[in-house]
Amino acid sequence: MKSSPNSTSVNTQLIGHQASGDNSSNYPQISIVVPLYNEVETFTHLTDRLNQIIDSINLSVEVVLIDDGSSDGTTELMYQLALENERYQCIFLSRNHGHQIALTAGLAAVTATEAVMIIDGDLQDPPELLPEMYNAYKEGNEVVYAVRKKRKESGFKKLSYYLFYRLLKSISYINIPLDSGDFALISRRVVNILNKMPEESRFIRGMRSWIGFRQIGIEYERHERFAGQPKYSIKRLIRLAHNGIFNFSEFPIKLITNLGIMTISISLIYLVITLINKIFYNDVPRGFTALLFTIILFSGVQLISLGVIGEYVLRIFFQVKNRPLFIVKNRVYKKEVFNE
Ligand code: UDP
Ligand code: MG
Repeated sequence: MKSSPNSTSVNTQLIGHQASGDNSSNYPQISIVVPLYNEVETFTHLTDRLNQIIDSINLSVEVVLIDDGSSDGTTELMYQLALENERYQCIFLSRNHGHQIALTAGLAAVTATEAVMIIDGDLQDPPELLPEMYNAYKEGNEVVYAVRKKRKESGFKKLSYYLFYRLLKSISYINIPLDSGDFALISRRVVNILNKMPEESRFIRGMRSWIGFRQIGIEYERHERFAGQPKYSIKRLIRLAHNGIFNFSEFPIKLITNLGIMTISISLIYLVITLINKIFYNDVPRGFTALLFTIILFSGVQLISLGVIGEYVLRIFFQVKNRPLFIVKNRVYKKEVFNE
């Protein structure tokens, strides 16, 4: 076992060997990044499909698999494969860090000189799209993202995604394309920029849009998960949605200010009405129910407002800690094991 060369421990640490974009022949043209968390049932099917497509095209390709703290035997399969086949670089994280962070670790380790493809490990994103995406990249697009034409998932999940992407688009200050996830092919340049972005709560599809350059969407049909259960729990999906909204929109905080202005205006009008009643009609106080209702309503509004501010404060809190985004246990690169 060796200690990894070139490894640094800044916030978004770069792992191991890095191709900086020079066309050095030691490095592949394309890297395919696949995060895996307990995907033992799909693993061989995934690698078969990857090998098939890679063997059928005239490009040099490496596959970067990230083990996000699996406990079902995926880890062992990954070791075995990477020690046999130098096309596979495997990163083993110290624990389950979550999909976005696993992707981040993968992007920090890729050695590709031209572009990087990101896919899910459950074969919902067909790796066979690589040639089409690569062509679009060759035409000058720095980001080629996949847009879901159809989604073969449960009605509830489909509806939630549908609504979420439309909400995000309407309130975000950047142009995040509708119905596109992290499945994409991005240029080496964009990867380098992503690797320099130290934000802790990551929403990679948003960060990718924020970067800019020429971006293009390619339609595809999203398949069902090949096997096993989704690893994103509802709680985690909600957290991801929060990251999308709070990291790429000022809307929630603006909403509070507007609510404040609105309530002050309404209460001023109410005050004037009450004063007129008192002065001109000498009306006795009325409206116990109205009072109760207002108190309850505005206590609620205040609590929500505090929560919204809390979301932003929480993000600052986690960011200022400046912890590394992930911890790598070890890595297999060109059939050799490195201890990070
Ligand atoms: N994944 C991961 N870490 C996690 C959760 C998921 O690396 O904590 C991987 C998972 O193995 C899969 C991909 O991320 O390859 C997408 O996960 P999943 O299929 O559960 O997400 P969904 O398709 O439901 O959005
Ligand atoms: Mg999936």
